[in-house]
Amino acid sequence: MSTSDPDAPVALSVVIPLYNEEESLPHLQQEIANVCAEHGITWEVIYVDDGSSDSSFSVLEKMHQRDSRIKVLQFRSNCGKSDALSAGFKEAAGRYVITMDADLQDDPHEIPRLIARLEEGFDLVSGWKKKRRDPVSKRWPSKFFNRVTGLLSGVRLHDFNCGLKIYRNEVVKTVHVYGELHRYIPVLAALEGFRVGELVVNHRPRQFGRTKFGAARFFRGPLDLITVLFLSKYMRRPLHLFGGLGFVVSLAGLGITAYLVVMRVVKQSYLSNRPILFIGVLLTIVGIQFISLGLLGEMLTKMNASRHIYSIRKKLGD
Ligand code: UDP
Ligand code: MG
Repeated sequence: MSTSDPDAPVALSVVIPLYNEEESLPHLQQEIANVCAEHGITWEVIYVDDGSSDSSFSVLEKMHQRDSRIKVLQFRSNCGKSDALSAGFKEAAGRYVITMDADLQDDPHEIPRLIARLEEGFDLVSGWKKKRRDPVSKRWPSKFFNRVTGLLSGVRLHDFNCGLKIYRNEVVKTVHVYGELHRYIPVLAALEGFRVGELVVNHRPRQFGRTKFGAARFFRGPLDLITVLFLSKYMRRPLHLFGGLGFVVSLAGLGITAYLVVMRVVKQSYLSNRPILFIGVLLTIVGIQFISLGLLGEMLTKMNASRHIYSIRKKLGD
């Protein structure tokens, strides 16, 4: 993919979400431009300013005036990394798309290696910060997060949330990232049928500014995983989950109450001293509620039926 023709189609789009990173930006841009020049890669960089309150935007504005390959989107308010990535993905024209953080922790010198790895036959290659330059308070929970995500999703990666990743363009146009789902992009992509790989990448300590993610991430992460797993498996058939659950639960409840009725009739035993009665009634009601929830889900799914969720890799013929 090497070319020196300025009019050649863009080979690589680099998408960079940022929130208050004024000091890092010029260094980062310089590093990206140097690496791409060295390897003859035609590029564009799309900076997405996620509502920064420092001078990030004016820094970017000046950079754009000097070089039209530098594109800038500015959000009116801070919407989060997922939305910033999503906006950048929409604009990305390159055959390949690389995302990286703006804080210089991700190393642009990895760009050629990422491209080479993708070309081995992947649609998405995620960086793996094997030697991570972050405090322990971040590294350990993140290890746990990666284990659990890998186990539950079946996608075997060491580092789901690495900011440095490369995608074929069709991946970023297909996968829908919102909320805080950026942590699960490899899972979302794998569920669409894209081939996901990983590559050990260099990671550097933060030089300027401070981290934008506090302890809240540890609580929100697991909830988002439930969303991803639920939507991916049951979006189209919610009754299979809730109905199945409801059926088992209400059957247990009905079994218990039926047993109590038989005892009442045959053995004349009093219901007032049978605590199990409450469990029977509770299970029956909860079971019926699960089934109703499943039916409600089916109604929502039907209303939304036109939105196709399959994704086509190739089409031969008309
Ligand atoms: N970021 C963003 N919007 C936010 C928070 C973060 O665009 O609301 C950007 C941030 O500027 C950086 C990247 O997302 O480029 C990763 O953030 P950070 O370095 O703070 O995360 P950490 O490395 O601590 O996980
Ligand atoms: Mg960082």
